[in-house]
Amino acid sequence: MDGLMQRRSLALPPVFHRAEQIFAHKTMVTVRPDGVRSVTIAAWAQRVRRLATVLDQLGLDTGARVGTFAWNTQEHVELYFAAPCSGRILHTVNVRLFTEQIQYVIEHASDEALFVEKSLLPIVWPLRNELPRVRHWVVIDDGSDVEIPTDERVHDYDQLLARAAPFEGRFEVDDENSAAAICYTSGTTGNPKGVVYSHRSILLHSMLNLMADHIGLSERDTVLPVVPLFHVNAWGLPYASVMAGATLVLPGSRTDPESILDLVERQRVTVTAGVPTVWNNAVPHLSRFDLSSLRIVVSGGAAVPVVLSEAWRVQAGVPITQAWGMTETSPMASFGSLRSHHDDLDTESLSMVRASQGQVLPLIDLRLVDTDSGAEVPWDGTSVGELQASGPWVASGYLGDGEGGDSFTEDGWLRTGDIAGIDSYGYIRLVDRSKDLVKSGGEWISSVDLENHIMAHPAVLEAAVIAKPDEKWSERPVACVVLHADELITGDDILNHLADRVAKWWLPDEVHFLDEIPKTSTGKFSKKTLRERFYPSDVNTPQR
Ligand code: ADP
Repeated sequence: MDGLMQRRSLALPPVFHRAEQIFAHKTMVTVRPDGVRSVTIAAWAQRVRRLATVLDQLGLDTGARVGTFAWNTQEHVELYFAAPCSGRILHTVNVRLFTEQIQYVIEHASDEALFVEKSLLPIVWPLRNELPRVRHWVVIDDGSDVEIPTDERVHDYDQLLARAAPFEGRFEVDDENSAAAICYTSGTTGNPKGVVYSHRSILLHSMLNLMADHIGLSERDTVLPVVPLFHVNAWGLPYASVMAGATLVLPGSRTDPESILDLVERQRVTVTAGVPTVWNNAVPHLSRFDLSSLRIVVSGGAAVPVVLSEAWRVQAGVPITQAWGMTETSPMASFGSLRSHHDDLDTESLSMVRASQGQVLPLIDLRLVDTDSGAEVPWDGTSVGELQASGPWVASGYLGDGEGGDSFTEDGWLRTGDIAGIDSYGYIRLVDRSKDLVKSGGEWISSVDLENHIMAHPAVLEAAVIAKPDEKWSERPVACVVLHADELITGDDILNHLADRVAKWWLPDEVHFLDEIPKTSTGKFSKKTLRERFYPSDVNTPQR
């Protein structure tokens, strides 16, 4: 017998309409070069309705791909809702990709219109002849003085909105499994791959962000996503904030540490989220700002060293809480807030819990698999294996590839490429990305652990450990280290510091001091670039 509940689709329109109706008085804030702009949700919603009409007028059919090339702004969040609520598919293009990758993803996603912030035009407009499918280039005025090209394909966003009548009535999306948004992986190996989120997956993921044991977003929150809106939908925060009625504070393109901390202070931000580099760069400035409004600082995308989380706890009064996930997992799949079984732990043990990737979230299934034997590895906290994931907001395939492919197991689970252990409470401890592990004499060395220890040295700002090819041991670890300004230490100092913290055979063979660790388009350490720099002949070997 079927249940007798209504089969209303789990889609974005009800989120929009509820916000429009009951959160009309609330605001959304954007930082622009000419100052901070605040709009009411009533005004924002009216613009979303006008934008839906504009998409009709541009001749974009149901299912058409609407590309965005923009930072974290109110206009971007307008597109976040207008495109999917009116049946189109939002494609947020990562503006930091290489030019060839930008061209590839716009072409591969079949974007028919591209909404571009004016200051970003010089990156993407020169590609117009290579992008014949893009029929409309809509320029969003972000206050920059870049000249708008005179071309019949080019339109002004605000003018289009001003001329369009607001869409009337309720948006409807009947099929909750229809595509709502596309994000590409950053393509560290090969071309970026398109992950296609459905209305259902975004809706469930948004509800998850509201859960108390997760971020627990509520109407009282003021949310500052430092993570760009083109990186996995800013981890779902724009959708979740509109769902909760929380105030979104959007930093535009200004994500330098001082601007972010200043925004936290002025806007009384309660929740913020970004990659560890953002939080690490902010540490020297923490004491100059009033950060007492913060209740949670979320970090994801790469491991957070103990020393970083502790610096925030001590200096800002709030530690960093890790989330783990991938573009393919929408991205939230685990969260590192503390549970009752941690109540009696001392400060140091708590800092170790915070160094883990957190507890698996509801509705996400994880398993650890021994890649040699294929056997499942127990959740005992010490055994490790390849982390595989399954769940309603986990990808089942990539755009254009259909279901399956190398990244998925025969029974449809996502192979994350991460090597991890999980304890009996479901807390994940990531050992490494499989392609970053150092294999020495048949044993694995965790680059994440080594980096964690090196970054605990007070003179060290950043550290990345990579594998060096070695005839005898196959690979040996090499440390790339950036020091704080005015610090002067030697490689031996680093090795001495490590000596009583790790096994002798883990000690790096070489320590290189660099001015900066190269970063990926999403702000993480780019170990691929380091390997290319130090060991150019090795980067094409199969495990790399
Ligand atoms: P890319 O890193 O290629 O830009 P993603 O943003 O999808 O693409 O990255 C997902 C990967 O980031 C994960 O597979 C994992 O290796 C890493 N990652 C995500 N969160 C964490 C975390 N909290 N700690 C350590 N690594 C993480």
